[in-house]
This record gives sequence, structure tokens and C-alpha cells, in this order.
Amino acid sequence: MIKQFLFLSRNRWLYGVLSLIFSLSIILTNAQPTRAFSWIELLIRGAQIYQLSSISDSQEVQLGKEINQELVKSGKARVYLNREITSYVNEIGQRLARTSDRPTIPYTFQVVDDDSVNAFATMGGYVYINTGLMKRAENEAELASVIGHEIGHIVGRHAIKQMREKAISQGVLSAAGLDSSQAVQIGVELALSRPNSRGDELEADRFGLENIKKSGYAPSGMVSFMEKLLQRGSSSPTFLSTHPATSERIKLLQNNIDSRTANLGNGLDNRAYKSRIRSL
Ligand code: ZN
Repeated sequence: MIKQFLFLSRNRWLYGVLSLIFSLSIILTNAQPTRAFSWIELLIRGAQIYQLSSISDSQEVQLGKEINQELVKSGKARVYLNREITSYVNEIGQRLARTSDRPTIPYTFQVVDDDSVNAFATMGGYVYINTGLMKRAENEAELASVIGHEIGHIVGRHAIKQMREKAISQGVLSAAGLDSSQAVQIGVELALSRPNSRGDELEADRFGLENIKKSGYAPSGMVSFMEKLLQRGSSSPTFLSTHPATSERIKLLQNNIDSRTANLGNGLDNRAYKSRIRSL
């Protein structure tokens, strides 16, 4: 009996040790890939979630780039491919970007093949100018004033604020942040609808005016272009949204422009401008 008991218990003990080794080997062989997988997953998730309330400049630029890719790929923004025109707009844009209140991020200026008098900005330095607006402007100072206004939206990080509001209203903003694909989708919607608030528009005007003054453009260009659009009445472009009224914006701009220096500066040569855009 004792012998048998010992044999049994030894067997049990052996069985126990063997099963422990067996299960340990399963844990050990499985542990590495499991841990590796979760780390990769975490890394991927980390790169795909945007925390909008504390988004870094490089993340904002990346998001702007992804929104741009979607706008172009879907044909919602048809990029006008003409080296002369593109480099001219880029030249004006980079000049303004340098004197803006946010010169540290890269800026991308693109011309959109669209006859409506319009312009818009997304985020991370992405600015779009329609061919129709370029044709409507009479000189470089007027075109620069619109680009300056759009840079003003980037300086004010207006699109980030709107994206956050929209994500909250759609119930897609989690505590971790906003998923990359949803962020791009909302970014595209915002680029097309441009729901800039009254406060955002006035702020972009203020930033824009200071910027064109600093970069040496004649400040009168900003007022003359808005006046031109005001005369068009009901067909006012969406970049001059109805809130606030264009007349109110003109009045506020005029308060911040010294009439003695309004026409001092670059960009008032109408003929030079027409010659630069003749291929449009
Ligand atoms: Zn605006």
C-alpha cells in the first residue's frame, strides 16, 4: 500500500512537474508574440488617434496632408496644374507665411481649378485659392489679402476648433481622441462647407491685415477686394461668409488702416499682375 501510494504520488508529482513545464513552455513561446503584437497595436493606435485639444504642430501638418490627399483624390478639389501660376501663388504665400504669427510650420499653397470666387484653408498650413478668385483680383495686393486672411485661419487654428466641435456633436470623440479616418472625413466636410464663425472671420481679417502690412503689401488691397465683392451682392463668395456682413468687415479693416499709408507698399501694379496670371 505504502509502496503503491508512493508510486502514485511520485507519478502525480511527476505529472504535476511535467504539466507545469508544459504550460510554462506554452506561456513562454506564446508570451513573446503576444506582447510584440500588443506593442505594435499600441504604436499603430497611438499614431492613428489625434488628441485635438493638445495636437502638436507636426500632427496638425500630418492631418492637413491627409485631408489634402482625400480632397484631391476624391476630386473635391481639382488642383490647377500650371507651373507658372502655382509658383506665383506659392511665392506670395511663402512671403506671407514668413511674416505671419505662425511661421514655424510648412505652408502648402494650391490653386484650385474652379471659376467661383473663392479660397479656403484647412489646417497645418494647407491653403487653397480658386482660379476664379485670381481672375477677379485686380492686383497682387488684392490676391495677397485673401491669402493673408486664409493664413489667418491657420494661425488661429480655427479648423482644429471646428473639427473638435463637429466630432463632439457627431459623438465620435472619445477620451483617447479622434480616430484618424474620422478626423480626415470631418476635415474634408469642413473644407467644403467652411463654417467659419463671425469671431473666426474677424480674427482671420485681423491676422491677415497685420500680415500683409508686415510683408510690405499695400493694405488698401484688402479693402478694395472686399468692396469689389460687396458690389456683386447676392453672389458673394462663401469665403466672405454672411457672418459678419462684408460691409461690417470693411468698416473694421478701415479702422485699422492709416489712410495716409493705405496705398504705400507692394502689389498695386495692375498690369504687372495681369501679366503674371495671363496663362489662366
Ligand atoms: Zn475666412
